[in-house]
Amino acid sequence: ERAREILESGARRGSNRLGVEAMELLDAYGIPTPQGDVVSSPVEAEAIAEEIGDDVVMKIVSPDILHKSDIGGVEVGVPVEDVRDTYEDLVVRARNYQEDATILGVQVQEMVDLDNGVETILGMNRDPQFGPLLLFGLGGIFVEVLEDNTVSVAPVSETEAKGMLDDIDSAPLLRGARGRDPVDEATLVETIQRLSQLVTDFPAIVELDINPLVATPDGVQAVDLRLTLD
Ligand code: ADP
Ligand code: MG
Repeated sequence: ERAREILESGARRGSNRLGVEAMELLDAYGIPTPQGDVVSSPVEAEAIAEEIGDDVVMKIVSPDILHKSDIGGVEVGVPVEDVRDTYEDLVVRARNYQEDATILGVQVQEMVDLDNGVETILGMNRDPQFGPLLLFGLGGIFVEVLEDNTVSVAPVSETEAKGMLDDIDSAPLLRGARGRDPVDEATLVETIQRLSQLVTDFPAIVELDINPLVATPDGVQAVDLRLTLD
């Protein structure tokens, strides 16, 4: 099946760290991801942007770069006419950061509406004693500052997944505080269960982070992915 192939192709590259190039893994489990692709040339990047038909987000894809935005490896709101130059810029920044970094390419991704969404984090850490621990909480830039999250052992039932939403202090933010529209809670709960299934099916995944998982009134979008294989 497709998910297995993605993990094996990562392993074949000799790297136990996978990033956004493995986002199809989420698609395979029905976890929504923004439209886009990883490409290896400026011309291909432009073609993807034209297909998307709007400003795009571009990200460097390298197993040696864990926090892409820290090194200037993420550009949001790139107009189609700037896509080729931005491709080159991202590669230069990656080389400046680490001359011999393995660069798999650049991801060109549809923009997600963060203004109407909440950046959450959905992750997993495999504990030798307890097994796969799912983590759900507030994501994006708030993740370290606020540390508002909750942990549950996978696999989780629907009730347990719902309970994870209730558990975090920022739950009111998801439910429409300050005149915002509430996020699509049913899809969020389903997404937690789908990740639970994924990490249960693949014991080789020892760590996984979707940060951010953007929750909006219309559903969720997994915007970033990082995982480690044993
Ligand atoms: P990293 O965590 O490695 O720095 P991300 O892919 O998480 O890289 O991107 C960093 C930040 O850029 C995200 O937290 C989000 O705020 C913003 N961002 C990334 N992708 C998108 C997107 N498709 N639409 C809107 N904002 C995005
Ligand atoms: Mg991220």
